[in-house]
Amino acid sequence: MVAVDTYTRYCESCGTPVTEGPEGGYVCGACFHVVEPRGADEARKRRRIERATMVAEAARLRQLQRY
Ligand SMILES: [Zn+2]
Repeated sequence: MVAVDTYTRYCESCGTPVTEGPEGGYVCGACFHVVEPRGADEARKRRRIERATMVAEAARLRQLQRY
């Protein structure tokens, strides 16, 4: 068994062989097409909700301080 093919995936956009990251995402070196790793969307959604909650809380505290 010889590992000659290190490429496991090809760019969805232009077909250039790409090296996947540990989580399955990649950035194409030829056209910079980006494929997010699995779970990245979920993590970002969670972070966005956390940030929105923090912003809302900060606004509420500002309101309290004003009056
Ligand atoms: Zn590409």
